[in-house]
Amino acid sequence: MSFPVSTGDTALEIEQSASNRTAELLNAAKKHILFTANRPDIVMASGEGMMLYDTEGQAYLDFIGGWAVNSLGHSPAALRDALAKQAATLVHASPGFYNEPQAEFAELLCSVSGMDKAFFTSTGAEANESAVKLARKHGALHLDGAYEIITLKNGFHGRTLAMMSATGKAHWEPLFAPKVNGFMHVPINDLDACFAAVTNNTCAIMVELVQGEGGVHELSEAYLYGLRKICDMYGILLIFDEVQTGLGRTGKLFAFQHYGIQPDILTLGKGIGAGFPLSAMLTKEKYDLFQPGDQGGTYTGQPLGMAAGLAVLRELLGRDLTASADVQGRYLKSKLEELAEELPVANIRGKGLLLAFDVPEGLAPKLSAACMAEGLLVNAPNATTIRLMPALIVEQGHIDEMAAIFGRVFRNILKHVG
Ligand SMILES: *Cc1c(COP(=O)(O)O)cnc(C)c1O
Repeated sequence: MSFPVSTGDTALEIEQSASNRTAELLNAAKKHILFTANRPDIVMASGEGMMLYDTEGQAYLDFIGGWAVNSLGHSPAALRDALAKQAATLVHASPGFYNEPQAEFAELLCSVSGMDKAFFTSTGAEANESAVKLARKHGALHLDGAYEIITLKNGFHGRTLAMMSATGKAHWEPLFAPKVNGFMHVPINDLDACFAAVTNNTCAIMVELVQGEGGVHELSEAYLYGLRKICDMYGILLIFDEVQTGLGRTGKLFAFQHYGIQPDILTLGKGIGAGFPLSAMLTKEKYDLFQPGDQGGTYTGQPLGMAAGLAVLRELLGRDLTASADVQGRYLKSKLEELAEELPVANIRGKGLLLAFDVPEGLAPKLSAACMAEGLLVNAPNATTIRLMPALIVEQGHIDEMAAIFGRVFRNILKHVG
């Protein structure tokens, strides 16, 4: 190996070795990571605030926010410090013991949500599984064994077998048969259809208040009010899956606060751990129905996760990031409306920092890929929809930059498609 003779050569050598390293990592990943998704040929290396960086040093302004997870941005100090402190104190005792951050976190989370009891787990799907189990327990104890749960078409509740059954996605229907029984799917905002689906077998209705993966579609107030009425009338449980909408995302701490309607069961995930795998199912005192053995899990209430959740919630409340999500969400919407005056951007929708809009059919994935090449991450949940869910710490400057890059990329694409 020869020594570089100028700074120019040094830069070149470093660049070369970075590329080799990236190539090695990509080879290893492609060879040994089970294929479940089409991923671009980059390797993410680090993050800070609104930015992600790959192993080539390319920077990305992140409007996907880890899929609505990184509520405090990338590698936030509050989360880092809490994890370091808890890791040095107690990582895991056993699900058979209480621990300090668990007690504190449950108390704070219940007080801000108006719920009474918390069950903690690691993923949104598990929190929803817990909700379904609790609703079926209620059905077994109080509704003559009713077990059916009504959910919405085009919804999303997770990827366990039961949650794939609960999720009303048409293209999931034929997958992994036999499905878990007992889920009825009805169209969104159609109260008559929901009413017609209620039978003696129904124990719960489970909905997202804003369908996230489905492309950002909101429940109407009248519909939600109607669902609450149906549930009260028949003694069946109303479950809000706020895995995506909870913890400030929509400009209220919980999306149900936009409607003034309380659930019997509330599930949280994604932003609750700001990147640490954490989720929760919350319920009211009167649905404290599980017996030992009914529900549990090795990592339920695990100290490290509890310390993470407690620190994230304190930071959200302390910095009033919910109000910030509301303000910045409105600003982002106004920038999208500006783009819509000039470009084929339609149906701008959503609340707070969970926004989406439509582009001509088929263009959404192209736009998302072209934006990435220009250092901007936006999500295309389907062929016509672009969804934005940046960290709640996003500021006007980031939004201006996002709109500028997106506009430039879109104009370019339109030129090429003619
Ligand atoms: C992401 C999501 C889930 C699933 O969460 P996982 O952590 O991936 O299991 C469930 N419900 C909603 C509304 C979601 O957005």
